[in-house]
Amino acid sequence: MTLVAEIDTVEENKNIVAQYRRLLRHAKPVLKDGDNAIIRKAFNLAMEAHKGMRRKSGEPYILHPIAVAQIAVEEIGLGTTSIIASLLHDVVEDTELEIEDIRKEFGPKVAKIIDGLTKISGVFDKTMSQQAENFRKMLLTLSDDVRVILIKLADRLHNMRTLDSMARDKQLKIASETIYLYAPLAHRLGLYAIKSELEDLYLKYTEPISYRSIAVKLSQTKIARNKFIRDFISPLESELHKQKVSFVIKGRPKSIFSIWNKMQQSNVDFEHIYDLFAIRIIIDTEQDNEKAVCWQVYSIVTDYYKPNPDRLRDWISTPRSNGYESLHSTVMSKTGQWVEVQIRSARMDEIAEKGYAAHWKYKENTDKTSKEERGLELWINKVRDLLQRNDLSAIDFVDEFKSNLFTEEVFVFTPKGDLKVLPAGSTALDFAFEIHTHIGAHCLGAKVNQKLVPLSYVLNNGDQIEIITSSKQKPSEDWLKFVVTTKSKTKIKDWLKEEKKRIADDGKEIVLRKLKNLKIEMNQEVMSKFLHYYNEKYAQDFYYKIAKEVIDSKGLRNALEQIQGVEARKDLLGDLKNKEIKLTTDSSKNDMLLIGEDLAKIDYTLSKCCNPIPGDDVFGFVTVSEGIKIHRTICPNAAELMAQYGYRIVKAKWTDGHELAFLATLKVKGSDRVGMLNNITRVISNELKVNIRSLTIETEDGIFDGTIQLFVHDTKQLDKLIKKLHMVPGVMGVTRYYN
Ligand code: MN
Repeated sequence: MTLVAEIDTVEENKNIVAQYRRLLRHAKPVLKDGDNAIIRKAFNLAMEAHKGMRRKSGEPYILHPIAVAQIAVEEIGLGTTSIIASLLHDVVEDTELEIEDIRKEFGPKVAKIIDGLTKISGVFDKTMSQQAENFRKMLLTLSDDVRVILIKLADRLHNMRTLDSMARDKQLKIASETIYLYAPLAHRLGLYAIKSELEDLYLKYTEPISYRSIAVKLSQTKIARNKFIRDFISPLESELHKQKVSFVIKGRPKSIFSIWNKMQQSNVDFEHIYDLFAIRIIIDTEQDNEKAVCWQVYSIVTDYYKPNPDRLRDWISTPRSNGYESLHSTVMSKTGQWVEVQIRSARMDEIAEKGYAAHWKYKENTDKTSKEERGLELWINKVRDLLQRNDLSAIDFVDEFKSNLFTEEVFVFTPKGDLKVLPAGSTALDFAFEIHTHIGAHCLGAKVNQKLVPLSYVLNNGDQIEIITSSKQKPSEDWLKFVVTTKSKTKIKDWLKEEKKRIADDGKEIVLRKLKNLKIEMNQEVMSKFLHYYNEKYAQDFYYKIAKEVIDSKGLRNALEQIQGVEARKDLLGDLKNKEIKLTTDSSKNDMLLIGEDLAKIDYTLSKCCNPIPGDDVFGFVTVSEGIKIHRTICPNAAELMAQYGYRIVKAKWTDGHELAFLATLKVKGSDRVGMLNNITRVISNELKVNIRSLTIETEDGIFDGTIQLFVHDTKQLDKLIKKLHMVPGVMGVTRYYN
């Protein structure tokens, strides 16, 4: 028997209808004749398509598209087309309906938006690089219809608001995508309210404890804060009334995320954050007067409170490129606390809250392009610029895009007085590239406000810049250290890449000429041998170094010979990799190496750095000119040889045989006494019949220190000797010495 949860469909349908009505109520001011009918048609279609589908929370699915449409209307200020697109935004993705069906019913505009939304819907289901690539595609749609992005943001906002019903891992994933891409995007589009909410929701799900603690403290301090705000604004209010300014004053707490951020950055606790709120004075005035009135209000505020001159921001005379207009000042309250005051018109406030979509409403008032729109266009142009650079990897693109998102701008002028907006921190060289790639590439220096400055000069607001160029000048690697804009960086990198390619081509010619003299043809195989020999990864780097004489072209011949030497040996050795070399000490043939079963004969020498003797653990190393060298595995050079030239290492093992003698060195230490030396030599020569090659002795303060070189057959014999020497009275230590 199955238990089915009882669902009250009557109650559910009532709720759906209520939500739909609420949407229409909010949309009403922007609706034209006939809009109602077409919205209803979209609603019915979405109802039908999502019939029976439920969200993770158990709610009917249709509530989600309605909520997205509601955000589009109420919080972004979009109109009929966007409502329809929002209502239908998931149907092509999740149901049987096709984009063609949408086009037939609602026309090409809606179809295009939904197509865009469907295409970018998979943005985050992929690996990081895929995400970045998709994000780039998503921004590409900006040039088609920015509403795709706006509806996507509304969709994301609703998903974040309803994140509770998701599993924990999904919550974390969605939240981090949101902070990574969507919040910056909202910021760049000037949707400050949505940006703040997305950030707060991010914090709520990723740092729930911090989030709750700040929220609780904000509400606990609310009464005191409100009193402070009342005291602060009361003299301003009476003066504003006196001067007949129509206004609203809001004392707004900063977002939980921004408070948290500040706590993290300055490493202080909540109690030590002083700017928990900002005072906003919103003026109701004609657009023609708004600038004058804002400054009038500024003058009133600063009559009462002393302003911090460093903190004045005039985004009315020069709006930010996302359209933001406002006058900001930080003033000292009577209680000695800095307070940020924002002064703006109702129109500016709406743009600041809802972003540039809101300003469409005002656009009709003036026939010349408004400043905000110019700013936005500027931005879209920049994005387009970036997108056209298709050799920039998608990850780089997103990184650079993101880093550009949050940087503040600096406003500067050309000699003719044209305004240029660049990211804060931009240098004279960035400015040159902003004017023209050619000017950037040949930039020699600049005159800022008539004074000569270096390329790395960091621009200040209001600077007027004249670029000095020279046809002899060209970009260098160093330039990358002080340019800031994506445009300069990519142009310089492009130029350097080109330059390198050009130089490498010269190098290639040199190499080909050399090889021709040697009667060798350049091919893939020869190249890969060179790369191996010179430890380079790419042919271009090899050619480049030849041209730059980092690699001496005169050495190519020698290199080839050496390569061939090694190869010849390798050939001779066959696939030694899996075989073991047997080192024999057969006296008839000195220094003989036997390989595998067929006993091919190859020269070998015992390396001087560790003097191996039969019985030692050894390996063979194929040298370029001296055949195979045998090292002890504990040779001080062994590790490096094996790590760097693993392919030249061959296994080696001694065979039995006692005829040959090998040189070994012993150090003997003991107390000096009469007859000591005699005892030692007798043990060595008489008892074990070992030949001593040399013997040196030092004595100091009664300590005997001897170094003995002697010929032994193998380690067995040597070990026996060491044991015997230990037994000589007075000997305290006997050790084998490497060389
Ligand atoms: Mn959706």
